Amino acid sequence: MSDVKKHAFQAEVQQVLQLVIHSLYSHKEIFLRELISNASDACDKLRFEALAKPELAATDTELRVEIEMDTEARTLTVRDNGIGMSEDEVIENLGTIARSGTKSFLESLSGDAREDAHLIGQFGVGFYSGFIVADRLTVETRRADLSADQGVRWSSDGSGEYEMATIERAERGTSVILHLKEAEGEFLQSWRLQQLITRYSDHIAFPIRVPEAKPAVEESKESEDGEDGEDGKKVETKVESDEITWTTLNHASALWTRPKAEISDEDYQGFYKHIHHGMDEALTWSHNRVEGKQSYTSLLFVPSKAPFDAMWSDRNERKGLKLYIRRVFIMDASEQLLPAYLRFVQGVVDSDDLPLNVSRELLQENKLVSQIRAACTKRSLDLLDKLVIDDAEKFQQFSDSFGNVLKEGMGEDFGNRERIAKLLRFASTKGDGAKQTVSLDQYIERMKGDQTVIYFVTADSYNAAKGSPQIEALKSQDVEVLLLFDRIDEWMVGYLNEYAGKPLRHVAKGEFEGASATDKSDEVSEEHKPLVDKLAELLKERVKEVRPSKRLVDSPACLVLDEHAMAMHMQRLMKEAGHEVPSDLPVLEINPGHPLLQRFAAEGNDEQAADLALLLHEQAVIGEGGQLDDPAAFVQRMNRVLAGSAPAA
Ligand code: ADP
Repeated sequence: MSDVKKHAFQAEVQQVLQLVIHSLYSHKEIFLRELISNASDACDKLRFEALAKPELAATDTELRVEIEMDTEARTLTVRDNGIGMSEDEVIENLGTIARSGTKSFLESLSGDAREDAHLIGQFGVGFYSGFIVADRLTVETRRADLSADQGVRWSSDGSGEYEMATIERAERGTSVILHLKEAEGEFLQSWRLQQLITRYSDHIAFPIRVPEAKPAVEESKESEDGEDGEDGKKVETKVESDEITWTTLNHASALWTRPKAEISDEDYQGFYKHIHHGMDEALTWSHNRVEGKQSYTSLLFVPSKAPFDAMWSDRNERKGLKLYIRRVFIMDASEQLLPAYLRFVQGVVDSDDLPLNVSRELLQENKLVSQIRAACTKRSLDLLDKLVIDDAEKFQQFSDSFGNVLKEGMGEDFGNRERIAKLLRFASTKGDGAKQTVSLDQYIERMKGDQTVIYFVTADSYNAAKGSPQIEALKSQDVEVLLLFDRIDEWMVGYLNEYAGKPLRHVAKGEFEGASATDKSDEVSEEHKPLVDKLAELLKERVKEVRPSKRLVDSPACLVLDEHAMAMHMQRLMKEAGHEVPSDLPVLEINPGHPLLQRFAAEGNDEQAADLALLLHEQAVIGEGGQLDDPAAFVQRMNRVLAGSAPAA
């Protein structure tokens, strides 16, 4: 054995570790699920690598997880004969948290144990959960493709440092040895342990074994009560190895290969937690077997919460849909099997027909894969449609977590645009505050008798949208307006020109004829011509046109764009992102009855009239959420007007 070397944990590990220990104490038994889950992943990886290098599994072909306790030493060991880890992998996997969402996760912590327990559940607890019940963890491991003298022992009490040493290890795979805390004796009681393992491992595809209670059994024999592996939940097989007789506690067959009728909701949820490495439950799922030109099984889950990883927010680094080929885990193939806007979907696709040596590149061009992708897309949308009908509350939860991701589908999946639009939810002037709860169908149902279009406004925030001057007239006529304020909305509405035959109309764009078709009074122009001309002259550098508005009720003025111009809010986003933006001047619409405009019309002093005109324009810009070119000049102007209008002392 080589020297023992001490290493410090990456700072983030220490934080996550403390958090896991303190906030998850009330669910302490989850450590077992996490360790079994890791062991099962390791077996999956071994099986995959053995496709190309069969010698890796040659001497020990039956992949399995064994759990053993030693009441005297007070240890619990979770052992697998999976892929194992090299020294570098141990440092990388057990000494750091390389996940992309770690920083934002840590920043989101509140310090309140219950709340944080919830958050860490979304983050995924993993290996470190062992420290909830153990005051020391020892890991002994050897990567399958390395020699026996390249084993590694890792050990830590979870307080800032870990030790590593090179060891001799004859067998491949990993043993995690938990040195249980004084108070955690329950995990040394075999009935308690078996109860937990059974609960947490029935969906695991590999046998999970514990030593038979009575040792010295001469010979494995058929169970006499005719218990048979197909129907019984608990399958008992007795296998001789190292003179210990083992009992298998789970079905040990891939969950998705079992008949649906035999799988309980709890099994599905357990499997979901295993594949997505989290604690939250799935909202719904769909499990299907397809037979025909090609055969495959898909099991798709809709999560309730977005995980902290960038895995769903980053379109290019998606994870969650695992590709198996004839029960062998091949790779995470979310990108190949689902469009980006459905990247929240988690699950498994198991194909009978793809070649086992398939590569990522090959998947990209494969016809069978594109058929599976189309089917998974349809299934996912079907699943959401069904959720709307079956459980509105759960659908809302979905929408709160992933509605903005779904919106991307409007630009990404033309074929399904109408279906996706039906699933979108928005805030509106008749909705529930800033919550996005109103569907387009609901909007249409509530439309006024002679209303022909769906009105919306876009802005940087809910308050800005709700307070938009452009929607005043509609509000006063009790016409509903959708309030869009997510970053993606402006882009999305570019693809949402109409829904169910009704055009969508940006209230700050184009001429506004009023919500009611009968509202066609155009005479205003004659009456207000002098006012309009005077303003237009003073603002000719800033606006394309001045015209009386039918949108305004309370505000003096607002900015409006041409029907096809880029909305101002979008122009700002584009500028921020460093793009050149076509700078069409906007139209200033005015409310001629407003006291400010009446004052302007009556103003005899040219300088004061100019100040008023510029201020009218500037407050319209601010009202829009925009930035003034010269804020200092604006302040001076405003002060002049305020001082001038102050009653003489
Ligand atoms: P997660 O499983 O969510 O990635 P963990 O903290 O549980 O996070 O584990 C970190 C990494 O350590 C795993 O991704 C895996 O690469 C490695 N690992 C953990 N347990 C084992 C094991 N039993 N065999 C091989 N590798 C393992």
